[in-house]
Amino acid sequence: MNEMDRADVVVIGAGVVGLAIAYEAARRGHSVLVLERDRIGAGAAGVAAGMLAPASEADCEDPALISLALESCRLYPGWVASIEADSGMRCRYRTEGSLLVALHHDHLEELERLAAFQQGRGLDVRWLTAAAIQAREPGLSPRVIGGLFAEGDRQIDPRFYMPAMAAAIRAHGGEILAGASVTSIVQSAGRATGVCFTLAGDDREVRGTVIVVAAGAWSNGPLAGVLPPLPLRPVKGQILRLRPGPPLRHVIRTADVYLVSREDGELVVGATSEERGFDSRPTAGPVMDLLREAWRVLPLIYELELAELGVGLRPALRDGLPIIGPSPLDGLWLAAGHYRHGIMLAPVTARLLLDAMDSGDIPPLLAPFQLDRFTQNTTQGVPVP
Ligand SMILES: Cc1cc2nc3c(=O)[nH]c(=O)nc-3n(C[C@H](O)[C@H](O)[C@H](O)COP(=O)(O)OP(=O)(O)OC[C@H]3O[C@@H](n4cnc5c(N)ncnc54)[C@H](O)[C@@H]3O)c2cc1C
Repeated sequence: MNEMDRADVVVIGAGVVGLAIAYEAARRGHSVLVLERDRIGAGAAGVAAGMLAPASEADCEDPALISLALESCRLYPGWVASIEADSGMRCRYRTEGSLLVALHHDHLEELERLAAFQQGRGLDVRWLTAAAIQAREPGLSPRVIGGLFAEGDRQIDPRFYMPAMAAAIRAHGGEILAGASVTSIVQSAGRATGVCFTLAGDDREVRGTVIVVAAGAWSNGPLAGVLPPLPLRPVKGQILRLRPGPPLRHVIRTADVYLVSREDGELVVGATSEERGFDSRPTAGPVMDLLREAWRVLPLIYELELAELGVGLRPALRDGLPIIGPSPLDGLWLAAGHYRHGIMLAPVTARLLLDAMDSGDIPPLLAPFQLDRFTQNTTQGVPVP
């Protein structure tokens, strides 16, 4: 192992956000070190469904977040092509779109509101009759009474995407240290100059010109003593993997469940959204609800093998939007709070964060996602949890 003792960019966390930032930095010629306390994808990204769905998820979303999501999805094809070329590995990026289906009239009314909202923002959705939906996905329940086709939605398989990003980082000379748990940020002369971490029981230190905290729901850990705590909480998501799933062409969504089919025959059924703090135990009730809703829309899941029950903790800030930008401490940057959208937002987060670091200017698309939105109305200039 060629361990660096300094790097231009030190990234804390090898989730999808940390890896994307490290890849972009390495691709631009910076020396990069990623410190991951467990293994690549050990956090929320390792269980995520991987939907890249700005249209399907537009309901009630902040307009600035929709713009960021659309830009990320615009970047995705080139981003994936570059990772696949640099790594020689596939990310399993798919472009068939989502079907948002209604099983009864309440669903239909919800979809009508969603369609009006989406079309008002120029998002690409159109109505399909029940017959047109059945023609596209013959396995769906005959109880489907209509729905929306979000043609621009995409999906990627995080379990292929993240190893490919890791290989692409290494191909550019970057290093990823698994089992390296960051305990604190080192400061000198009023700026962040490195991090302390433990690896196999040893205390270590590495210097960095820039330190990026991308530790998901755990981002307040390394920040302790440096910044007041971010108003960040974990939102628990339970998600199932069934095998062998039917080869669905589209991501299928109802108001209560989504189904994502992988090319290797896996069917991902997700996901719950629970306020349980850092409790990541799987529980029977929410899983029963997920399975029942999935069975309602796709009856043949009844016979499938329940191959995996995954639990992830989504990193959610108080307003549901991420922080992507500098901190008040020079040299320390934040990329946290991506909540339900970290896979979708990874390319735009990386690209614009590196633009900001390299130029010193915050790109306009990132302006709404700065830490100062939590500090503006306080006299002490600290975030209010
Ligand atoms: C069930 C579920 C389904 C989802 N589906 C989707 C989806 O379809 N589309 C989408 O866009 N998003 C989805 N998400 C959300 C997405 O997974 C998150 O937004 C994303 O993973 C956040 O990425 P991250 O890198 O910030 O955090 P994480 O993926 O949680 O990664 C953080 C990493 O930091 C490491 N770490 C923590 N503390 C330290 C430390 N002190 N030192 C070193 N390393 C540390 C952790 O071990 C972890 O590997 C889903 C989430 C869940 C739970």
